[in-house]
Formats: sequence, structure tokens, C-alpha cells
Amino acid sequence: MRVHNFSPGPCTLPVDVLEEARDEFLDFAGTGMSIIEMSHRSAAYDAVHRRTIDLARSVAEAPPEFEVMLLQGGATLQFAMVPMNLLGTGEKAGYVVSGAWGRKALASASKAGGAYAAWDGADEDYRRMPAAAELRVEQGTRYLHVTSNETIGGIRMVRYPDRGLPLVADMSSDYLARRIDWGRFDLVYGGVQKNLGPAGLALVFVRRSLLDAGKDLPDYLSYAWHAESGSLGNTPAMFQVYLMGKVLERIAARGGTTALEAEAAARATLVYDAIDGSDGFYRNPVDPAARSHTNVVFRLPSAELESEFLSQAQRRGLVGLKGHRSVGGCRVSLYAAMELESVRELVDHMTEFRRAA
Ligand SMILES: *Cc1c(COP(=O)(O)O)cnc(C)c1O
Repeated sequence: MRVHNFSPGPCTLPVDVLEEARDEFLDFAGTGMSIIEMSHRSAAYDAVHRRTIDLARSVAEAPPEFEVMLLQGGATLQFAMVPMNLLGTGEKAGYVVSGAWGRKALASASKAGGAYAAWDGADEDYRRMPAAAELRVEQGTRYLHVTSNETIGGIRMVRYPDRGLPLVADMSSDYLARRIDWGRFDLVYGGVQKNLGPAGLALVFVRRSLLDAGKDLPDYLSYAWHAESGSLGNTPAMFQVYLMGKVLERIAARGGTTALEAEAAARATLVYDAIDGSDGFYRNPVDPAARSHTNVVFRLPSAELESEFLSQAQRRGLVGLKGHRSVGGCRVSLYAAMELESVRELVDHMTEFRRAA
């Protein structure tokens, strides 16, 4: 039996995608072999690869001046590749440290080039996103880096800061679940294992005019190298690319980012309403204006009640609800494949547990 899987990532994927992958696993498209057994230079794989990239471009509505790449190493490798490729000598980048992920992005960038914190929410326990005017922008800043949604803290950047500088964004945990205003970005990236597929890949959009800057880097670290080969410079993560293609097909059929954005808001609203209507039994600690649509965090009146809440949830098939070890409490992750039915089941549990407590 499948559970209601609220895991923060990897996470639930569309069941029809999993079934289709199971059905074709031994013999893909009449080739007599599995997708993971064939040459990555074969016509059958090439079609899958190109289709996934084309779908990513069309769902994201990325204009032609952006190159679309599928790279291994997840979002974490991008924490290093972004500054390595974009920062010229003497240039630096300002990082908005809005939570654990922004902090990691800055830590890697500091080792790769000149990077500084343009804002740091640590003193306020990462409960809100900054206004543009709060950012401390240094002379010689090449780009500002933001995290669209902080997966651990449960906050979302509703408005991207405009300081007249190009933006770079880690969009891992609400990837393609909000429309992207491409004119504002030089680069957008994210691990795909929340909304889009299995772990191990980053989907990267880079403005083509910037590709040349990284051409002298070692092969795998260079966007120019990947762009030249259509992300086929080495053996790609074929199974991930294949599954992601299937997920993207479903997203496109559902109405793309506009549909995902509305669906995400609907799921999140159910849980926030349960929190707000609980007379303070459930507490969401973040700025109401920055509430995440994909990761809803909340506390109960005591650690004992929290662990009882989680174990009773587990018994009714509601899993993956424990908060990140760094913050505790509970966290409900509501990614693109999460069924509204599952969210309703969770909300029922929240209501019944509170009444019984
Ligand atoms: C999950 C996540 C990451 C990490 O991605 P990896 O693929 O594990 O490197 C980075 N940033 C954000 C915002 C995330 O949610």
C-alpha cells in the first residue's frame, strides 16, 4: 500500500509515472533492453534526452536566449559552478542568506570566488525574507543570489529584490511551480528531486551570452562545455532524465507552471487554515507574508505532543512529517505530485489530534 508521503525530498512522484516506468523497465520502446542498459549515444536515448530538455524549456517558458542543461551533482554542485562560471577576476556576488540553503550556497561560493552575505536572516531565525532596500550591495557586485523557497525554514521569497543587478536563483523546492520573469535572471537552477523527478540532477537555465566566461574551466565544471554537447558531454544520468521527462509531460498536460502555482497555493492553504484555526495549538513561526507554499512548518505545545502527533500520523499512513533535525517540530512538504486528498487526510489528523489532546 502506498502511504501519504510528505517527505521533504526526495519525495512523492506521480504514481502513473512510476507505473509507466515499471511497465517499460525491461524493454524500452521495443529496443529489447532497459533504458538504463542502452548506449547514451543510441537514437532511442537521444530522443528521450532531447524531449526532456525541450519539455523543461517549454514548461518553464524559457526564452531562446537561455541554454537549458541537465547536470549531475544536484543543486549542491551548482553552488560551486555558478560562481566559478559567472565571476570574473575581481568580481563578487552578493548572497541573500535566507536560510540553510542560502547559507550553503554562500559557503561554496566563498571558496570558489568573491562572495559575501548581502543580507543574513540568522539573527531572526530565518523567519522572513528581506525587502530589496535591506540588502547591503557592495561595489563590483556581478550578481545577487537568492533562494526562492527555503525548504527547511518554510519561507518563500514572494518578490525578488530589484537592485538593478542580475539575479541568480536556487529554485529547487518550488521549481516550475511559479512563473519565472526571465528578464530579471542571468541563471536559474535547482535540484529536480522535489517537483520534477528523482534525485541526482540539476536543471540549469543560463543566459547564452554568459557561457563563454567559463570555457577554460575543467570540463565538467564548465557551462560552455555542457552547452556545446547538449548535456551529453559525458554519460548522463539517463534514468533520471527519462523519468523527469515523464513528470514534465504530466505537468505540461495539467497546464504548466500556472497550474502548478495554483495547485501549490490550494494545498498550502488547507494546512495553514488548519494551523490558524487551531487556537494556537499549532503554531507556524514564520512571517505570514513569507509563508512557503511547499514546506509548511509548525510546532505543537510540547515536544511530547509533537512526537505523539508524528507517531499517530505514521499509523494512519501519513509519513515524512518530522521537521528538519536543525529546527525540530513538524514539516509538511507539499510538492507538485502531492494529491489534495492526502492533504485533506493530514488536515483531518491535525483536527482530530487537537480535539483529543
Ligand atoms: C533540496 C535542496 C537543495 C539540495 O539539492 P541537492 O540536489 O541535494 O544538492 C538545495 N537547495 C534547496 C533550496 C533545496 O530545497
